Amino acid sequence: MIKIVTIPGDGIGSEVVASALQVLSALEEKHGLEIETEEHLFGGASYDVHGEMLTEETLDACKNCDAVLLGAVGGPKWENLPHEKKPEAALLRIRKELGLFANFRPAKVYDALLNASSLKPDILSGTDFMVIRELTGGIYFGQPRGYDRERGWNTMVYEQHEVERIARLAFETAMKRQKRLTSIDKANVLECSQFWRNIVHEVHKDFPEVELNDMYVDNAAMQVVRDPKQFDVIVTKNLFGDIISDISGMITGSLGMLPSASIGSDHALYEPIHGSAPDIAGQNKANPIATIASVAMMFEHSLSMQHIADEIYTAIERVLESGMRTADIANSGDSIVSTTEITDAITANLEVS
Ligand code: NAD
Repeated sequence: MIKIVTIPGDGIGSEVVASALQVLSALEEKHGLEIETEEHLFGGASYDVHGEMLTEETLDACKNCDAVLLGAVGGPKWENLPHEKKPEAALLRIRKELGLFANFRPAKVYDALLNASSLKPDILSGTDFMVIRELTGGIYFGQPRGYDRERGWNTMVYEQHEVERIARLAFETAMKRQKRLTSIDKANVLECSQFWRNIVHEVHKDFPEVELNDMYVDNAAMQVVRDPKQFDVIVTKNLFGDIISDISGMITGSLGMLPSASIGSDHALYEPIHGSAPDIAGQNKANPIATIASVAMMFEHSLSMQHIADEIYTAIERVLESGMRTADIANSGDSIVSTTEITDAITANLEVS
């Protein structure tokens, strides 16, 4: 029995998670899988009921399942809460509590959407790389932190084991792909980055087949836009990864297309990278593909069923090739379909493939 905790969260979260569940149940039937799903509150939806964004009950459920599928959290209603009560603080806490130290974000272009990017199709065509961001260390968690009237301060710190485990995962990922790894740092300015670089090179000794390339983060931001095809796997620390993974994602099209996986030694959480999109929430307009592709990543990473992940990607590709578009990925002249219509089409494609 596969146990999945689902957390719709806020805004469009419930709409896109409903789409993902429809796809899951089609796969369950097709492949005779036994999947148990259990829904929990998180974010504003939890705050309104329990007065806190993340309850111990939700956290316990996330710790006792095979994988977590999250929609999105937050919205204007909860924006003015104190920093420590905001949805972002709850997101950081859940990552830390589940030990989700690695965030995987694919930057892969669907041919049918080559025109949806801000880059020229010939620069973009064939782009397929994975950004691995360290997620539970670095400046987002380092102490001391704070501000007063005169100054504000944060601390960028990495322990040896934190760099070693993410580097190892990055080399292992590169071994399964094109065997090329780019480690992004700022070793010319930051001691913490020089430390990062030293450890990545140590770990490299265990993976001699992988070609390792160091790149400064400012250059990397430029290279991702100039020539994205040069990358296979990128690994970087929390702060730089936050920015580089957004740039990498956006060159491939809309926020509504981008899945992610956050992985630790014992737990994993899958979610689209977009937020709760309050401007379109409740209108059946959200693009569910990012969340459906997050389910594909779940089959790849947590359930070791690559063939089912591939089926999901193929179904998405076929539907895009048929010309079906939600509003966020439509060009002028395209007819626009709803969340439920595109979900039905993807599900129907799974059933026939
Ligand atoms: P957003 O990602 O919610 O929306 C940005 C724009 O992209 C909006 O115009 C929205 O309509 C569009 N968009 C996003 N996802 C889409 C989809 N699936 N289909 C079609 N269009 C889509 O970012 P924002 O507006 O900056 O943030 C809104 C709220 O979401 C805030 O409260 C923010 O804190 C929260 N947020 C949560 C997460 C998360 O849960 N991981 C991530 C980012 C933002």
